[in-house]
Amino acid sequence: MSRKRYAMVADTKLCVACKACVLACKAENEVPDGFSRDWIMEEVWGDFPTLSAENRSERCNHCTNTPCVSACPTGSSHVNEGGAVLVSHNKCTGCKACIAACPYNARYTHPAGYVDKCTFCLHKVQRGEEPACVSICPTKALIFGDLNEPTSEVFKLLRSRRFKVLFPETGAKPNVYFLY
Ligand code: SF4
Ligand code: SF4
Ligand code: SF4
Repeated sequence: MSRKRYAMVADTKLCVACKACVLACKAENEVPDGFSRDWIMEEVWGDFPTLSAENRSERCNHCTNTPCVSACPTGSSHVNEGGAVLVSHNKCTGCKACIAACPYNARYTHPAGYVDKCTFCLHKVQRGEEPACVSICPTKALIFGDLNEPTSEVFKLLRSRRFKVLFPETGAKPNVYFLY
């Protein structure tokens, strides 16, 4: 059996920036007030009347190359099942080296003193459920799955649709893809 490679696909054409994904994540993961594991970027470019717009639901990219893991001096930041990048809270000293190393500003310091970020909701995925942000999205703009599984929706979407990753020049090789 091949190893899993978890990925999230966000369809910028379907996202209506309702922020349900942000609220669902906060509730599921008890993210404290004032912080978020995911956020919405609403971008507009071009000149009137030929404006283009894009709504992106963003989070940790669960990068294949992980500058955050390399920077962590305690082994707290690590790569888990399916390439999901996690933080072991009990090993984290809150030194913020990973926050400085992440090119995507995907981490924050929890008031309890450890660094926190998106986990791909691995606790739910391991129960056979979808991440909270994925299951709440009213327009089905978020899709999660195993890119090493050719029957998965994420695999099929990346074969059939135009997509991009954020700041590919960082070399971090994100596993969150944006359809546009
Ligand atoms: Fe966009 Fe879906 Fe998030 Fe709403 S829940 S902001 S439509 S990704
Ligand atoms: Fe690490 Fe940042 Fe990549 Fe997430 S987005 S895996 S925190 S470098
Ligand atoms: Fe939050 Fe889970 Fe979605 Fe990550 S996968 S943004 S932890 S709800």
